[in-house]
Amino acid sequence: MQVLNKSNENKNEEGILIVVEGIDGSGKSTQIHLVDRWLRSKGYDVFFTEWNSSETVKEITSKGKKKASLTPMTFSLLHSTDFADRYEKNIYPLLRAGYIVLADRYIYTALARDTVRGCEKSWVKNMYNYARKPDIVFYFKVPIETAVNRIISGRPKLKHYEAGMDLGLSKDEYESYRIFQGRIVDEYESMVADENFIVIDGTLEIERQQNTVRRNVLNILKTKNKIHDIIS
Ligand code: ADP
Repeated sequence: MQVLNKSNENKNEEGILIVVEGIDGSGKSTQIHLVDRWLRSKGYDVFFTEWNSSETVKEITSKGKKKASLTPMTFSLLHSTDFADRYEKNIYPLLRAGYIVLADRYIYTALARDTVRGCEKSWVKNMYNYARKPDIVFYFKVPIETAVNRIISGRPKLKHYEAGMDLGLSKDEYESYRIFQGRIVDEYESMVADENFIVIDGTLEIERQQNTVRRNVLNILKTKNKIHDIIS
């Protein structure tokens, strides 16, 4: 299979892969949507993809989640299948076609979450070893309380897996959610240096964050010789 043939890696890929990561409520979707609109308005070919969105897989994942019948391993495998489906059908071919691919969560989400759920990190890493390294990973860093308040304001109920209730951290779902998110933050933090994350202060105003994000995107466009008339 072409995607899995490591000798092809990055050779023919003209496109740019930009990833946002961070816990729920860190503001990453807000930022990547603004980048999406900005790049499209400048005439770039952009493709947006988000975690857990494969049409082929998401139905079964959703069923398993609703019944709370997933183990850490089956949870991990379903998400990696979802990712593989999107990678083969969209991410890989569009990168080869020169698109800017914007990914709301990438393999780092699996590495962080599945490890917190007790899966062996090397096992998870191995499952995603075909995935191309992004050109930029923005990591949105926020205190747990900020993120949690953004998410739970107006939400009467958290979902079972979202709150990490499968881990037995607390009987109270909000408390479980806090502990779970805290552990995910620790996992993200452990990746910052090795994976060259660009850390964005997610507590700043949306516009200030967007300025920093755009500056970094412009740098990569320049490096890859992809500047249109974009400077604005
Ligand atoms: P994520 O994708 O990381 O879960 P979102 O971008 O969906 O986060 O943002 C979660 C909530 O927080 C949304 O209601 C959004 O409007 C709000 N939000 C995003 N960025 C900021 C910010 N910098 N300051 C205050 N609220 C924000």
